[in-house]
Amino acid sequence: MAHPLEDTLIAKQITPTAMRLLVLDVLMKQPAALSLTDVEELLQHADRITVHRTLKTFTDKGLVHRIEDGSGAVKFALCEPSCTPEHHQDLHVHFFCTRCRETSCLPAVPVPAVALPGAYQVQETSLVMKGLCPRCAGDTSTPAPTMQ
Ligand SMILES: [Zn+2]
Ligand SMILES: [Zn+2]
Repeated sequence: MAHPLEDTLIAKQITPTAMRLLVLDVLMKQPAALSLTDVEELLQHADRITVHRTLKTFTDKGLVHRIEDGSGAVKFALCEPSCTPEHHQDLHVHFFCTRCRETSCLPAVPVPAVALPGAYQVQETSLVMKGLCPRCAGDTSTPAPTMQ
């Protein structure tokens, strides 16, 4: 019987286990990127080390990517289907909302190419923009956040 979650794992050469299916399910249901703690809380009673290992496997296999949004916690979000362990193609802008503190992938907005001088060898590029997400920008019932 076809199982979409299992198929997603198998497509990335990840052996489906109960925990991996649960973590993938959580990631697919959430529109925003999730931290290890977020995943742990959504999966009640999950073992933190197992969740951590699962997210590391997903990252290594090109199923999720890590986002450092400046909040102090690394967040994880699903990759584009075309990502591979060797080549993450999701070099897109991320947006951190200073009000609801959610981090979103903006897959339609690529990170612009930046030319660096001389012998600098880039290993990684990330661009996190901060401000109000559409939902919070439209919410005038609460005061704007104070800058930190
Ligand atoms: Zn927001
Ligand atoms: Zn992303």
